[in-house]
Amino acid sequence: MKKIYFDSAASTVIDERVIDTMMQSLRYDFGNPSATHSFGQEGKSRIESVRKAIARWLNVSANEIIFTSCGTESNNLIIRSCIENLHIKRIITSPLEHKCVLETVRDLKEKHPDIEVVFLPVKDRKGDLDLNVLEEYLQENKPTLVSLMHGNNEVGNLIDLKFIAELCKRYNALFHSDTVQTMAHYPLDFSDIPIDFASCSAHKFHGPKGSGIAYIRKTTGLKGITTGGAQERNMRAGTENIYGIAGLGKSFDLAMEELDERRKIIEELKHYAIEQLSLHIPNVRFNGNCTDFDKSLYTLVSILLSFPNTMVGFQLDMRGIAVSQGSACSSGAAKPSGTMLQLYPEEELKNTTTLRISFSHYNTKEEIDELVSVLEEIRKKASSTIHVGNG
Ligand code: PLP
Repeated sequence: MKKIYFDSAASTVIDERVIDTMMQSLRYDFGNPSATHSFGQEGKSRIESVRKAIARWLNVSANEIIFTSCGTESNNLIIRSCIENLHIKRIITSPLEHKCVLETVRDLKEKHPDIEVVFLPVKDRKGDLDLNVLEEYLQENKPTLVSLMHGNNEVGNLIDLKFIAELCKRYNALFHSDTVQTMAHYPLDFSDIPIDFASCSAHKFHGPKGSGIAYIRKTTGLKGITTGGAQERNMRAGTENIYGIAGLGKSFDLAMEELDERRKIIEELKHYAIEQLSLHIPNVRFNGNCTDFDKSLYTLVSILLSFPNTMVGFQLDMRGIAVSQGSACSSGAAKPSGTMLQLYPEEELKNTTTLRISFSHYNTKEEIDELVSVLEEIRKKASSTIHVGNG
């Protein structure tokens, strides 16, 4: 059976060229990068050249790039250190964030009950945030961190990163954005966008798992939260994951060099998927802003099927097709996700099924045809079962 992968928002297939780079690194970069001998120093120089290359892509200075193990760690480091070291008294975020932000904020609130946590209201069924409320809060003079994701991993909504960064700057608030779904998928120029912190994860753009970055604007004075080593400019103690960093560097370079080419292919796939799903799946709905290409990630489509079936993801998998039922991170959960509950009344979601179909430049239109045809079969079976049951 030919297998079809439509879950690139959860993780991507690793690029062969990235594997080659990592194999070289695995073979030769065995010296400890903190050692002063040539074995260590060669590894150190590989790390520093990746740091410089990523800094160039983001138009920032190299010492603002900190290597971490993943997006989750980057978000934890940034948000926790803002509270623990920068005397932030209020966090403004949204209920649509990834759980590595939501749970970190909840944990901090438990440990520091005096901090204020504000969740911006979602103002419509598309999942747009009410930025007037954000501005009202920012007008109050309180040391604030705003944490809003750039691209939503479940429904794909994008925020206007520059507009929000400028708003935060106007009111002296720090601004963090979880850019895990957008970094290396969009050109991001942080000399033009006055953002303070951002996160990135290599496995979202055909790099290895276990390797990410935190962008930390140096003027913020953010400090590390792990102890026991001076690595990563004192921001992250511990011997560096040099092979992961080599893979991250290669996948970042390739993603940026091939960005327009990859984007064109993926945008066409997304258009085609929306067209075919609308034609063949009766009453299919598209969640959030995902049919508006200016306001949503080009890499994914999130749909609401008009029948309840917690097994759709499993049934597709049995036919060799991988998609995500709900968010990847909570897949298998029968309950609607927190994000979906912000977009639809719970009652309405009871008779529906949410699927996220996410693409990479390796996918094809034929694969979309296969997905749509299998989904159609599943839907027909579901409606005949409902019919028999009702009869
Ligand atoms: N933030 C977003 C928006 C994500 O989509 C993910 C991964 O699904 C993460 C954070 C976590 O990233 P990582 O898997 O690198 O920890």
